[in-house]
Amino acid sequence: MKNDCIFCAIAAGEIPSFKVYEDDLVLAYLDINPFSKGHTLVIPKAHSTGLLETDDATLAAVIARVKKVAAHITAKLGCDGFNILQNNGEAAGQTVRHVHFHIIPRWAGDPLVFENHKGDMDALKALAEEIRL
Ligand code: AMP
Ligand code: ZN
Repeated sequence: MKNDCIFCAIAAGEIPSFKVYEDDLVLAYLDINPFSKGHTLVIPKAHSTGLLETDDATLAAVIARVKKVAAHITAKLGCDGFNILQNNGEAAGQTVRHVHFHIIPRWAGDPLVFENHKGDMDALKALAEEIRL
C-alpha cells in the first residue's frame, strides 16, 4: 500500500467506495464522477502506477475481472455497449496514479462523450447495491 494513494486507501477500506465487486486481487467500484450510468473502475489491490509498471500476472487477473464485471453490468443495466479506458500519465488524462481500468456503459443514441459528470452520492449508493456482484 502506498501511503498517499487514494485508490490504495479505498482498497484498504480506509476510504468508502460504492463497491461493485471484490476478490483477493481486485476491487471494482463506481466512479464518483461518472461518464455514464454504471461507470465502474477496476483496480488491482496492490499498488502500481500504470500499465507499464504492473506485472503481467496482475494485469491478466485484472483484465479477466474487467471482463467479468463488464458482462455483469451489461446484463444488469441493459447497455448496448461499453468502453474500456485505461489512462497512463498526466498527458493521457491519468489523474489517479494507481493503475485502473474504466468500464463505461453506453446506450445507442446517447452522445459518445468522454467527460465526467458530478455524481449524485445517493443515486450511486443505490446503483452500487443494484448491480453488485
Ligand atoms: P483517470 O483520469 O483515468 O485517472 O481516472 C480517475 C477517475 O477516478 C476519475 O474518473 C475520477 O472521477 C475517479 N475518482 C477519483 N476519486 C474517486 C473516488 N474516491 N471514488 C471513486 N472514483 C474516484
Ligand atoms: Zn495505490
